[in-house]
Amino acid sequence: MLETTGIPSLEQVNSSFPSMERLMQGPVAIVECFQRIPCNPCATSCKRGAIVPFEDINDLPNIKHETCNGCSLCVFNCPGLAIMVIDYTYSETEVTFKIPYEFIPLPSEGDFVQGLDREGQYLCDVKVLKVQNTKAMDRTPVITLAVDKAYLKTFRNIKVVK
Ligand code: SF4
Ligand code: SF4
Repeated sequence: MLETTGIPSLEQVNSSFPSMERLMQGPVAIVECFQRIPCNPCATSCKRGAIVPFEDINDLPNIKHETCNGCSLCVFNCPGLAIMVIDYTYSETEVTFKIPYEFIPLPSEGDFVQGLDREGQYLCDVKVLKVQNTKAMDRTPVITLAVDKAYLKTFRNIKVVK
């Protein structure tokens, strides 16, 4: 499925999703990198060793969710836009996602934008809490979105249309 549509299978998505126990402890990275490619900035940028150092440059990332503190360094450094950070503890009713975002124009903080599912279908409106654009460092912009927890079950990647 991934090879033909660009959409990972539910099994792949679930395999990279943190446990509810870990979600309840605060921000944590979700790494959705499912194909062996010669790439490792996720592992080399993680100062906590939460993404296990690769033995082979083609290894798939192996993240230890219990070691990750959600710092997001790997999100800025992943050239494949394959990593996001979820914070289930943001509020009683909302969860936040920090996602890489390379479309222009960038949204602005405070904007309400359309969240889409993986197939590009409208899912719900989401609020842009933060926009981090480290262009000077040649890194991917990262935006933080607040999403109603009711959509977490259907969450399989929130894309954004301004
Ligand atoms: S969010 Fe931070 S601690 Fe977690 S895997 Fe990424 S770089 Fe490592
Ligand atoms: S940096 Fe991103 S694309 Fe590269 S191996 Fe890590 S998760 Fe995959």
